[in-house]
Amino acid sequence: MKQVIFATENPGKLREIREILADCGFEVLSMKEAGISADIVEDGKTFEENAVIKATQVCRLCGQIVLADDSGLEIDYLNKEPGVYSARYLGKDTDYHTKNHHLIRRLSGVPDEQRTARFVCAVAAAFPDGRVETVRAAMEGRIGYEEKGENGFGYDPIFYLPEYGCTSAELTPEEKNRISHRGKALRMIKKALTSGK
Ligand code: IMP
Repeated sequence: MKQVIFATENPGKLREIREILADCGFEVLSMKEAGISADIVEDGKTFEENAVIKATQVCRLCGQIVLADDSGLEIDYLNKEPGVYSARYLGKDTDYHTKNHHLIRRLSGVPDEQRTARFVCAVAAAFPDGRVETVRAAMEGRIGYEEKGENGFGYDPIFYLPEYGCTSAELTPEEKNRISHRGKALRMIKKALTSGK
């Protein structure tokens, strides 16, 4: 079976891409499973740049098809902060309860229509012949006034989805995968993979 390496050690992301690629004959390996270790500096200015940096560096090391993603939260009122710095916002070891409350405070007094935000995910596929494909998808919503919901991770408890009347932390994992930035981007990259087999 053809193998593809996903440049992540996040088990949630691996599970998701394994489900999405299950029907097209690719075995998905983590870097650890493929015996690769790399210290990659994600110094890109966009989600795409970071995904391409990760995918191409790992591809050069192993000579196999490599997928990598980069994602984050863009809040329009804050000029798209925290953006590519989402994981590092207020320091990478700061807990998300603190990060979420800080963002809610920065938006205090801001009306609903100006609280628009989106989760963005870019996925890059790097091929051994030097070809690189990137895709981007988003999930639109608004920043809520308090944390709600126990599912998901990160900024999900403050990410309100007006059409669903709840936050993304109140969706089941299946519901979230169906509409999420990452779910959509991974399904888009599947097309690039299957056409480049
Ligand atoms: P990375 O793509 O693993 O570098 O993660 C980017 C960061 O963006 C995460 O650590 C979270 O802070 C945030 N983020 C990305 N996607 C989501 C999501 O689906 N829910 C909540 N936070 C997210």
